[in-house]
Amino acid sequence: MVPGPEVPRCSICTDPAVLFQRGNGRHLCGTHAISDICDRVSATIREEEMIVPGDRVAVALSGGKDSTALLMILNRLLPSLKGVSLVAITIDEGIAGYRDETVRSAGNLVSSLGVEHISLSFPDLFGNTLDQFLKGREKEACTVCGILRKKALITGSERAGATKLATGHNLDDEAQSVLMNIFRGDFSRLVRNSGADSSGRFIPRIKPLKGISEKEIATFLLLNNAWTDLPECPYSGYALRREVRSMLSGLEYRHPGTMQHLMESKKKIEKYCASTYTREPIRRCRVCGDPSSGELCQLCQLRSSLVR
Ligand code: SF4
Ligand code: ZN
Repeated sequence: MVPGPEVPRCSICTDPAVLFQRGNGRHLCGTHAISDICDRVSATIREEEMIVPGDRVAVALSGGKDSTALLMILNRLLPSLKGVSLVAITIDEGIAGYRDETVRSAGNLVSSLGVEHISLSFPDLFGNTLDQFLKGREKEACTVCGILRKKALITGSERAGATKLATGHNLDDEAQSVLMNIFRGDFSRLVRNSGADSSGRFIPRIKPLKGISEKEIATFLLLNNAWTDLPECPYSGYALRREVRSMLSGLEYRHPGTMQHLMESKKKIEKYCASTYTREPIRRCRVCGDPSSGELCQLCQLRSSLVR
């Protein structure tokens, strides 16, 4: 059947297209969309030497869309990564009506891929669920959650003997973070490359999906029959990120390439600041001994105020 002129065709093979990349004006069919996404992730890993031969990569697997796509893509790229092994780490924060489903989804994914899996929970590690910790301080949800989850992921990675910790941050997340740091006046975070810490203080964190947009991740999951409608975190409404996200997606739609340009600006700012900005000296937390920029690490500062 000859398709109507309204059916967009793949710019590479002329099959019916499923993805339009507004930034470069290309239409891609399912096969070429999947290979383009995987090739770009592979190129990011190579160019930034995120994964080197012999690495054991812990993948932070929440069971949400980004981490699901990340594990699937890394598992697909594994044969080209010499001597590299994967282990998935799932943290159950204890968020009623939200986490159970994503944790289940994470479990199903690792079983289907045959990837080693470690699960940890906030009650095991910190004595309570996030819901319990947040009673009366819901507005601080993402800050509290972020500090505790970071510690949980580091603990999981250490238990797994991992040499790298991969997270599912995508292009949209990274662009949102640039704007959020500007809005908060947090210049040191803006110029600090959070994905790279060569100081040996932590297991280095890597973000292989940082060049892939949220829309491309959704397309990848749909094409691989891995799309599931998952509930949204009940605390996400309190987050500044939600407003920034909605603003940026509107801008990206009307002005394709906005997010990419934002990331290029961040790179330039980082470059200009490289000679003047110095990383805070490494100290040890007075209470727990973990690496810290101040006398107390963020976790110990938080612990004293948490409900038990
Ligand atoms: Fe945690 Fe905030 Fe994400 Fe919910 S939206 S999981 S509270 S960081
Ligand atoms: Zn094609």
